[in-house]
Amino acid sequence: MPALELRPNCELCDMDLPPFSVDARICSFECTFCAGCVARLSNVCPNCGGGFAPRPIRPSTEWRPGLSTTHRPASTTRVHTPYSQVELDDFADRVKAIAPQDR
Ligand SMILES: [Zn+2]
Ligand SMILES: [Zn+2]
Repeated sequence: MPALELRPNCELCDMDLPPFSVDARICSFECTFCAGCVARLSNVCPNCGGGFAPRPIRPSTEWRPGLSTTHRPASTTRVHTPYSQVELDDFADRVKAIAPQDR
């Protein structure tokens, strides 16, 4: 079955976000940030303008055949935002007053 990439870090502060992290947040395109940076971004994904949700935890225990982090490991490709802090703040300021469901 298709699966989330589970990217290994926050795009903005580079904090590690392992598959079991409760601090990981993703947008619908799987842009991945930590909870602290999502708050700083006013819940505006700087890449797509959408909102964020907590990233589901992938189990490390194989409760069902083949469906654990052992068999379906997280991505190891670190992603970093191409935008400067000023650009991020400007973008969030343009979008944040609109609720995610209305964007
Ligand atoms: Zn962060
Ligand atoms: Zn996004």
